[in-house]
Amino acid sequence: MLTLEAVGKTFGSHVVLDGIDLRLAPGEVVAIIGPSGSGKSTLLRCINQLEPPTSGRVTLGGTVIEAGHTPGRRELMNLRRAVGMVFQSFNLFPHLTVLRNVSIAQERVMKRSRAEADKISMQLLARVGLADKAQQYPSRCSGGQQQRIAIARALALEPQIMLFDEPTSALDPELGLEVLAVMRELAENGMTMIVVTHEMHFAEEVSDRVIIMADGKIVEQGVSRDVMRNPQTERARRFLHAVK
Ligand code: ATP
Ligand code: MG
Repeated sequence: MLTLEAVGKTFGSHVVLDGIDLRLAPGEVVAIIGPSGSGKSTLLRCINQLEPPTSGRVTLGGTVIEAGHTPGRRELMNLRRAVGMVFQSFNLFPHLTVLRNVSIAQERVMKRSRAEADKISMQLLARVGLADKAQQYPSRCSGGQQQRIAIARALALEPQIMLFDEPTSALDPELGLEVLAVMRELAENGMTMIVVTHEMHFAEEVSDRVIIMADGKIVEQGVSRDVMRNPQTERARRFLHAVK
């Protein structure tokens, strides 16, 4: 459903992504791990074109985006709608209630009525365990709760794939667990996901496949347990030894 072919990204003379090939099947959960600066965030940003790749091709569903060709507005809109993204920081609107935070983009992007958007938002808030917070403001919620609201907000636009960029790294471990539990539930219910994470347990136990990146390249990938327990390359071994 998602295919990256030889995706590259340079900033000036700095090669940040170097010929990334990646093919995701529907329902697949992929964890991306690797040292700081290896290009993990840039890779996610190239998938939804927050950062235009400098070479290669990204295909999602029927939408194809080639580096070097300015994508049409419609293609870009289709792609952005199909990709939900959750960042380290939650970026909720402070002046809107939790419910409205989840609803507002549905009205704008999906042209849902307010009543319909609020109804769907309530269902999603229940799914992330926060139905009782609907009328609160984000400042009254914990970091873990705010991140779960951000997940509900992304899900409300019915993405085909969800990208997570270290969603728990700004949280206390206990609050991170609440967020990881929601992500695990999504994974078990068939959501297609790419998760950049430093949570080695999540990578090993929840994802189907682990990709290890270093210096803008995929240095190893495979079935999660195999990669995490028995890496084949020296670079992967060195990374895992440092973080485990
Ligand atoms: P971390 O684990 O620290 O989040 P990462 O694997 O996500 O690291 P990226 O954020 O993708 O790494 O960055 C990869 C490299 O690209 C880094 O050397 C970074 O300095 C560089 N880089 C990222 N964005 C830009 C930019 N907009 N302009 C110039 N260089 C950039
Ligand atoms: Mg990053």
